[in-house]
Amino acid sequence: MIKLAGRAGSIKPSPTLSIDAKAKAMKADGIDVVGFGVGEPDFDTPGHIKDAAIKAIGDGYTKYMAVGGIDPLKDAIIEKLRRDNNLEYQRNEVIVSCGAKHSLYNLAQAMYGPGDEVMIPAPYWVSYPDQVLLNEAEPVIIPTRQEDKFALTPEQLEKHITPKTKALILNSPSNPTGLAYDKNVLEAVAELAVKHDFYVISDEIYEKLVYDGFEHVSIASLGDEIKARTFVVNGVSKSHAMTGWRMGYTAGPAEVIKVMTNIQSQSTSNPCSITQMASIEALNGPMDFLDEMLSEFDKRRRYMVERLNAMDGISCLMPVGAFYAFPNVSGIYGRSTTGRKINSSKDLAIYLLDEAKVAAVHGEAFGDDRFIRLSYATSMANIEKGLDRIEKALAQIS
Ligand SMILES: *Cc1c(COP(=O)(O)O)cnc(C)c1O
Repeated sequence: MIKLAGRAGSIKPSPTLSIDAKAKAMKADGIDVVGFGVGEPDFDTPGHIKDAAIKAIGDGYTKYMAVGGIDPLKDAIIEKLRRDNNLEYQRNEVIVSCGAKHSLYNLAQAMYGPGDEVMIPAPYWVSYPDQVLLNEAEPVIIPTRQEDKFALTPEQLEKHITPKTKALILNSPSNPTGLAYDKNVLEAVAELAVKHDFYVISDEIYEKLVYDGFEHVSIASLGDEIKARTFVVNGVSKSHAMTGWRMGYTAGPAEVIKVMTNIQSQSTSNPCSITQMASIEALNGPMDFLDEMLSEFDKRRRYMVERLNAMDGISCLMPVGAFYAFPNVSGIYGRSTTGRKINSSKDLAIYLLDEAKVAAVHGEAFGDDRFIRLSYATSMANIEKGLDRIEKALAQIS
């Protein structure tokens, strides 16, 4: 047996990717699986962005580039943050990485170490706790409540602050809950961060995917003191249907951005040159494709949540952002069917995959076992079919 580094032993594979892999394997075997497990838009990358990538290849942008991102891309990011978020940054306060997940990872490497506590509200995105663990720091999970729309209350937050508290990871709009923070809650969180001197990692990757007129606010925009303690993480994966391209960025204090750039110089080097050129077009170019994507997501969102709420034992809040429904399914727990008892989110996810041929992600992976996550980033026809199957499968357990 090979002896691994201690920190590596505690790390799990990303559960969302592994459910997806199982569903894909079933599909490859000819089984007609409806995939609600995926975490990416089902839309194609807009044509003008693809064209910019093709042009970049033709123009010879196929070599090493500046490690932390080329200046024209940094400038496009700075302009985006000014335009959309009312934030001012300089080039030395911005780093481009190979996807927002990589941005978060570089931040974790630069910021967390043994003895540090990093607060993570649950339900959380699956990679946050593992990235903290990989850097030998301690994730401090703060449960939030469905009744509070999964928003962290200042009281809950304050209870978990200790002298070891290094940072808070915020994700609004949230994967998996689809809920988002209102400005007044962000103001209270910002006040605590300043008072207790911890950092805020603000993952805003779903900023553009919001419904019902919800207005996204970046916590960094709430004043100079909180801005000096905040790292804004964003990218093009979700907003521009560019998950495969791998571009994310971080904006924050120059001191840390510099260290992140050094770390990146010793690991991946620059993000893909072609992707960088295409991302300039993504950030500076037209956004009209977004309206179409949003109106489609919006329709599916309403349909899925309505159908789920009509099912016995299920309650689901209406998401205001991202593309996930996150129903509470604990009302089903304790029920059973031939040879099978449903007592957890994993039991239910496995039951749905085996019996209904529907892939969903168990809430336990996101830190709350009472829920499952269903992505509506798939066609309406698939959503109808999948929900029909779930309804039928649930009717068989009692
Ligand atoms: C998808 C996602 C990311 C990472 O996206 P990249 O493809 O790495 O840019 C980060 N945070 C959350 C919450 C996500 O859902």
